[in-house]
Amino acid sequence: MFEDGVRLKKEYGAENVFDFSLGNPDVSPPERFKEILREISVEDIPAMHSYMPNAGYLDVRREVAAYMSGEHSVEISADNIIMTCGAGGALNVVFKTLLDPGDEVIIPTPFFVEYRFYLDNFGGVPQLVKTKNDFSLDLDIIKGAISERTKAVLINSPNNPTGKVYDEESIKGLSAILEEKSAELGKDIYLISDEPYRDIVYDGVKVPSVIKIYKNSVIATSYSKNLSIPGERIGFLALNPAISDIETITGGAIMCNRILGYVNAPALMQRVIGRMQGITVDTELYKRRRDLLCQGLSSIGYEVEKPEGAFYLFPKTPIEDDVEFVRALQQKNILTVPGSGFGGPGHIRIAYCVEEATITNSMKGFEEVFKEYR
Ligand code: PLP
Repeated sequence: MFEDGVRLKKEYGAENVFDFSLGNPDVSPPERFKEILREISVEDIPAMHSYMPNAGYLDVRREVAAYMSGEHSVEISADNIIMTCGAGGALNVVFKTLLDPGDEVIIPTPFFVEYRFYLDNFGGVPQLVKTKNDFSLDLDIIKGAISERTKAVLINSPNNPTGKVYDEESIKGLSAILEEKSAELGKDIYLISDEPYRDIVYDGVKVPSVIKIYKNSVIATSYSKNLSIPGERIGFLALNPAISDIETITGGAIMCNRILGYVNAPALMQRVIGRMQGITVDTELYKRRRDLLCQGLSSIGYEVEKPEGAFYLFPKTPIEDDVEFVRALQQKNILTVPGSGFGGPGHIRIAYCVEEATITNSMKGFEEVFKEYR
């Protein structure tokens, strides 16, 4: 899709191509980001560019831990934080740490497609389970999918590609199931929560804390989306201090952080985010785009589930074949991604990290294709 976008923009001019294919934030990082970069560039920090402890700088992990303790109302210390190369790096570290080949990880669908490849890196086996029609968790299906091979349940909220936020009741319900099944099977089943969109939520929605609710839980996250810096590869892993055998798991994760080849999270970016806790891009910009898009598509006749967070919309396609529908939209220079790639056939993913004009000007094409196929 990325290459198609570049080609079409060259051919038709950027303003005539409506590229909704990538979750690449277009909102600028907060002004403070540039200020801190300037500040650090003239500071005399000893060993600024050296190797460091494998978990990352202690002072930065302390800052992150202090912020996380407030956010989750759980005492989290620097020992529970490992700085990583983005959320992608954090997930690979946690899978390498926890999984033996053949272990199953339950993933509610639709889901972020890269999970498949991350699991495959370590012989993990995805167990895909459907969510309900409104994309909320179907706890009965999750319970039914748990077996003696289950090592973890992996959730992503706010969700890519649906924008769904799993509410507190569903996380509590999931936690009760995991506790029950862990006791029944005589093993720990982990809850891994991928949360890079945690701060991008709308209408006062709150993302519940898995760390507060479930003992054997881990958060993988990054600053890619909330600070609009995905190219800088900075994120972290937060391990619930209550995890059984926390010292072994932490030691394993720190080791894996190094031996997967990342060695450590980027030094400069650790210094930057250590000074940026609690700062987020202006989410109002994304909210306006969400509203514009939902309103426009609904009035054409598309069935949409209004996203509660992140910057993706996952509407139903008027025909079953979402790949054909994506191709038809492409004829109008509208680039979207087929839902089947995310385990959600019969839908398309629209990433609305684009200018409002792109949304407004794309509506004619969305309408023409909808009418053609209705
Ligand atoms: N998880 C989800 C749900 C994502 O959407 C992404 C990136 O788009 C990632 C993880 C990877 O994020 P990062 O850039 O922090 O590695």
